Amino acid sequence: MKIICVGRNYIQHAAELNNPVPSEPVIFIKPDSALVTNEKPFFIPPFSSDIHHEVELVVKICKVGKNIAPRFAHRYYDEITVGIDFTARDLQAKLKSNGLPWTLAKGFDGSAPVGRFVPCASLSPTNQIRFRLEKNGEVVQSGVSGEMLFSIDTIVAFVSKYFTLKTGDLIFTGTPAGVGPVKEGDTLCAFIGDERLLTCNVR
Ligand code: ZN
Repeated sequence: MKIICVGRNYIQHAAELNNPVPSEPVIFIKPDSALVTNEKPFFIPPFSSDIHHEVELVVKICKVGKNIAPRFAHRYYDEITVGIDFTARDLQAKLKSNGLPWTLAKGFDGSAPVGRFVPCASLSPTNQIRFRLEKNGEVVQSGVSGEMLFSIDTIVAFVSKYFTLKTGDLIFTGTPAGVGPVKEGDTLCAFIGDERLLTCNVR
């Protein structure tokens, strides 16, 4: 499986990092070794002293697709959860300033914890899904899918022009504003609506 991620998909988040608002989805990939499931802890890697949380809605692809038309995109995912796109912000800044790919800053081991998946059918329409992240019991990020610059269907269609989507692939759909650092001992809890789908302890 592969983990496909969208950058700068919420205007306020692009602004908080002083990035321009993109005219096409900004796509990057994490290797499968980044995936963390079953609420296993996140370990701060030794090469960064500024790891940020980015809470995101994550969709799971349920059938193979290539060159998917936007109007059929909803048929290619049927489950959704919240995940954290952990980012080594210091390393990312260094890579960006040298015009280099972000891969190491985004794709390191354990950088993609995902929560328990729930059927899309059990949720609000896909443009009205509310989600949030709490750090040590305090809300630090919240968003609603309708605020995305590029909708889930648009992303699925766009990505499938380049990569064949396969059953089990995950798409991280971008983070709303409020990203910030984590430290050892923090507890992160991510919710869709009022349902807690992910707990991640930082070690
Ligand atoms: Zn992200």
